[in-house]
Amino acid sequence: MSVIIRRASYERDSLRPLIFGMMEAMGGNEIRKGSRVLIKPNLLSPAAPGRAVLTHPAIIQAVVEYCNGRGCRPLVADSPAVGSFNLILRVSGIRDALHGLDCECRPFQNSIRVDIGEPFGTIDIAEDAVQADVIVNLPKLKTHSQMLLTLAVKNLFGCVVGYRKPEWHMRAGVDRQMFARLIARIGLNLRPAVNILDGVLAMEGQGPGMGGLPRELGVLFAAGDSFTLDRVVCRMLHLDPEQVPVLKAAREMGFPAPEAEIDGSLPMIRDFRLPRLTSLVYGPKFLHSFIRRQVLQRPVCDSAVCRMCGECWKICPARAIAPEEKPLHFDYDRCIRCYCCIEVCPFGALAAAETLAGRILRRAAAFLLPPGKTG
Ligand code: SF4
Ligand code: SF4
Repeated sequence: MSVIIRRASYERDSLRPLIFGMMEAMGGNEIRKGSRVLIKPNLLSPAAPGRAVLTHPAIIQAVVEYCNGRGCRPLVADSPAVGSFNLILRVSGIRDALHGLDCECRPFQNSIRVDIGEPFGTIDIAEDAVQADVIVNLPKLKTHSQMLLTLAVKNLFGCVVGYRKPEWHMRAGVDRQMFARLIARIGLNLRPAVNILDGVLAMEGQGPGMGGLPRELGVLFAAGDSFTLDRVVCRMLHLDPEQVPVLKAAREMGFPAPEAEIDGSLPMIRDFRLPRLTSLVYGPKFLHSFIRRQVLQRPVCDSAVCRMCGECWKICPARAIAPEEKPLHFDYDRCIRCYCCIEVCPFGALAAAETLAGRILRRAAAFLLPPGKTG
């Protein structure tokens, strides 16, 4: 399975031929008039391109232009976690970038039931994704405080429509590996024909939202297999793919990614700042509720930064944040530690903070276990 790697910038004249070449190499020449092409960028929340939260408008623009050149009118769609779709298009510069091009641009609307396999069975996925002839997946290279990284496979979780996402966080998100299996199953089911990953301006630190830090890597990846692409990104970052829950889950379920043949030169980045992972539920099952309440990191709010916009309490699947209450009040008994609130805060006001019990346990583990065994 070939993975194309190219040094790149967002400068239109140099980017366009790169994207066109990638589309051709991934079988884009199958796209023709009447093809149902879904372009799926990362449109998490309203953010300017310099924040590295979203797929850059220049990449989306070049893919739409490629489709138009093949006589096709593609659909650009996602299911944002925060903010209206129109606001995201405006703030991100995507609306301007797509002005005058022939495409439809809107959020996913209807879902259809799809059997994604054990242990989840039938779940609701965006109709536009399931019925597309060709999916062009356009992820952003970002850190993710729950899943370590969000790359090609994780980007497809956006095909679970709006309000159902927190529901899945509620059901699976408290168990990282279970959530990773869900994401891997969705990736295996949708299988985009083309994946182009935006690593030109990537995000490191406490991603994937406004808490992360932009980091210029100047690289684009393209592959026909999202899992293979993600593994090559791990290689670039000197990471064992087993550290990325989604890749580990896919391997455990019997779907190891095909070996990658590299077309291009893979940069080696040794100082990429990974996120502090928000906690796992561990230990015997009967202790889970206690551990969750007393040991796992809790979402906390920096009141000086919070603007009371309401995004966090709107998304909270456990209704653990009191609406309109200043300073923000969390009901930690209800909170399932899914960290959706941290992910969506448009101002970076939320963070995961260690509890006293968690700190004591971590120090005890560091003392009792030899170096390298503390995870
Ligand atoms: S913490 Fe963030 S998301 Fe929540 S109300 Fe404050 S600014 Fe909005
Ligand atoms: S308060 Fe935040 S971490 Fe807790 S359940 Fe709600 S969204 Fe998840």
